[in-house]
Amino acid sequence: MAATKVGFIGLGAIGWPMARHVTKKFETTVWNRTPARAEKFAKETGCWSAKTVAEVVGWADVVITCLPTSPDVRAVVEKGGLGWRAGQLLVDATSGDPANSRALATWLAAKGVGFVDAPVSGGTAGAEAGTLTVMLGGEERWVTPAKEIVAAFAGKVVHVGPVGAGDALKAVNNMLLAVNIQAAGEGLAALVKLGVSAKAALDVINASSGRSNVTENLIPQRVVNRTWPRTFRLALLDKDVGIALDVLNQNGVPSDITAAAKRCMARARMALGEEADHVEAIKEIERQAGVEIK
Ligand code: NDP
Repeated sequence: MAATKVGFIGLGAIGWPMARHVTKKFETTVWNRTPARAEKFAKETGCWSAKTVAEVVGWADVVITCLPTSPDVRAVVEKGGLGWRAGQLLVDATSGDPANSRALATWLAAKGVGFVDAPVSGGTAGAEAGTLTVMLGGEERWVTPAKEIVAAFAGKVVHVGPVGAGDALKAVNNMLLAVNIQAAGEGLAALVKLGVSAKAALDVINASSGRSNVTENLIPQRVVNRTWPRTFRLALLDKDVGIALDVLNQNGVPSDITAAAKRCMARARMALGEEADHVEAIKEIERQAGVEIK
């Protein structure tokens, strides 16, 4: 057990398995908005479940947050109040937005606290396996200790730039995921209507230049067999595409496809609700097309 004391805030779909890996390497205290979840986690892992964010902040050397959005992180960090002290580090594993991360880094820096944005990729399966890809944004002096902490749940860790760079890269990655889901869903819906089975279509596409993680894994494992597991909420993917759209627009680059993907994700989210999985966006295509991809 390493000497660094780690606080983990946000035991959601991906936070929970990440935090479990953290408990194996570091003395850990957790906090979750719904206390019953933190208590269950503490029982399972033998770590301490704090009653308040301030308790976590007062105790930990490093705090990891894994919450839906950057504004959620800001609100939680402010609950830490006067507990923050010079030399502490906040590692934010939320898929956040660069502008809010930069503002939070500045707020913390005034107290001598470091900030590294550390969004993750690899899904809940990657988190269970401890093989997530982690993209770090921040100053070298804070990134170095952050690397030691995130190694607990990572297969690959890359320092990609200053504060906010990890968030921007994660948003672009997830924009590509959304584009692939939408495009593959539309194309397959048309092929099935033409009488091509989804299985035959995927067989060919996955041996051809149109293949992607969506056609190779997500659609065969979740759509064709109609299982639709809930691992990553569509609402969060919609949020990510919105961040990517802002990043593109703020940098003066074309955003035609990203804007279209944002409209599609927002429409599917509206139709399917806040708890739907991201792959369920294809249900909305199926509904509009009047066909099931199977
Ligand atoms: P979930 O919706 O499953 O969990 C969200 C967590 O945040 C819960 O612990 C929830 O607490 C807590 N929470 C929500 N709102 C607040 C708030 N206002 N204040 C305090 N706590 C709050 O999300 P995920 O775990 O799936 O995702 C977390 C982050 O990781 C997101 O940014 C997401 O985009 C990113 N991500 C997720 C992946 C996945 O496969 N799921 C993959 C890669 C990145 P409570 O228990 O009370 O609801």
